[in-house]
Amino acid sequence: MERSKKIIFATHCLLNQNARAQTVAKCPGAVKEFLAFCLVNNYGIVPIDCPQLMFEPLRRKPQTKEYYDNLITRKVSREVAQKVIKQIKLYQKNKYRIEGVYGVEGSPTCGAVRTHIRNQQGKPISVKAPGIFFEELEKALRRQRLKVKIYDWDIQAKKRILKNV
Ligand code: SF4
Repeated sequence: MERSKKIIFATHCLLNQNARAQTVAKCPGAVKEFLAFCLVNNYGIVPIDCPQLMFEPLRRKPQTKEYYDNLITRKVSREVAQKVIKQIKLYQKNKYRIEGVYGVEGSPTCGAVRTHIRNQQGKPISVKAPGIFFEELEKALRRQRLKVKIYDWDIQAKKRILKNV
């Protein structure tokens, strides 16, 4: 069988919404529209570890970016980013095309384009900025001079959003 040689990297919960914090799962399991998009384009999917589940319980409250802006989240995010970098290099070395790295719109850790912060009244609001994991991933990509496109998958809108860098 001929291979497509087209790879995308996907944050864990695009394939498993069970991993998400309480009340924020948008569907029961994998995100159907995201899977359909991958199937139509013959993308091979490389899952990215869920940074939150590496140090938080499965049952956890939804939080904003400030909550995760701490040493442990940064350390875990850097470790996960290193794994992603290693795999990107492996595929690129073998002449596969990296078609994108996909985050989850609005996540405090895995939002690539948009995340949530608290406003002065303490209310969560959506802002145009990456979450903690994507901040660390972007730094690592820049250090390694790797150029890949970064997207958010907007689960509600069922579409991808390109990050303009
Ligand atoms: S930390 Fe990332 S992968 Fe884990 S549930 Fe949140 S958005 Fe999904």
